[in-house]
Amino acid sequence: MRLRRYGHLSLPPFGRKPDPLSKDLSAKTSKKIARLDLNANFGIPYIPILKQTQSMGWFKRLKDGIQTATKYKKETPDGLWYKCKSCDHLQTTKELAANLHKCVSCDYHTRLSSAQYFEILFDEGHQELFSDIESTDIMDFVDLKPYTERLEAAKAKTSLKDAMAVAQGQVNGKSLVVAAMDFVFIGGSMGSVVGEKIARSIKYCIKERIPLMIISKSGGARMMESAFSLMQMAKTSALLSRMAEHKVPYFSFLTDPTTGGVSASYAMLGDINFSEPGALIGFAGPRVIKETIKRDLPEGFQTSEFLLEHGFLDFIVNRSDLKERVSKMIGLFGF
Ligand SMILES: [Zn+2]
Repeated sequence: MRLRRYGHLSLPPFGRKPDPLSKDLSAKTSKKIARLDLNANFGIPYIPILKQTQSMGWFKRLKDGIQTATKYKKETPDGLWYKCKSCDHLQTTKELAANLHKCVSCDYHTRLSSAQYFEILFDEGHQELFSDIESTDIMDFVDLKPYTERLEAAKAKTSLKDAMAVAQGQVNGKSLVVAAMDFVFIGGSMGSVVGEKIARSIKYCIKERIPLMIISKSGGARMMESAFSLMQMAKTSALLSRMAEHKVPYFSFLTDPTTGGVSASYAMLGDINFSEPGALIGFAGPRVIKETIKRDLPEGFQTSEFLLEHGFLDFIVNRSDLKERVSKMIGLFGF
């Protein structure tokens, strides 16, 4: 009877049609398995609980009417698990956070907020600058809903005032001003506020002689501000050249995604342009380019690795080494 435990190998189980695969096993093999089983038992204890004449489910309720009162039911809190977008590895958000918000299996860099970058970069404590500037609806712009409503909704959802936050602090004891974008605020779009915050940061850095680092993470210009958002490209680029004249370094850190008007202005104008691994960096989307040039795009097109190979970036840095590399760069420029 014990042979039946290995029925899937040698003999068809009771009450079922013979498995076509098991036919291939010769009688000799079956006997061998039987002999092995009787003598050795493969080290597995035999538990005679299965009545194979009955069809078996995975679970069988032993008693009827077992119920759990609602107060004893445990809810799984939202956001407890994170499934990696790159390798599908399931991990707790705690594990992810402990690994600087990179996948513990494949090192995929998830998107961070400005506050999280400040946390990674700065030593104890930092001071936020120009936090009082807010967007207004200059053009009475209405798409699916009025721009004013869109702004209010974004502010309520993110507790941010716009898509950029600026802070000054110490990186391994060296002063640095960091202007970091937040993708969650209307796709990290560059409007008047982003432009103005960069402009004020540049003027502040020139005056105080502190290096500037801009962390880009943007879908491009903010269409609800139309030409006013496009003007920010010229405004920031002009001021950055003034910063270069004053010999104050500017580090441009491109993160996933850096596209549109941002990549066409300040993001590509750094004294050093560097990026996180696997970030999407480009101007127009791949579909638009493909339709325009009528050619297939090369593999890995618009990733930071591709851009590094083609000379657009100076290096790619893993988030674990970010602080160390930034502090070394500040030192290299003699600040
Ligand atoms: Zn992964």
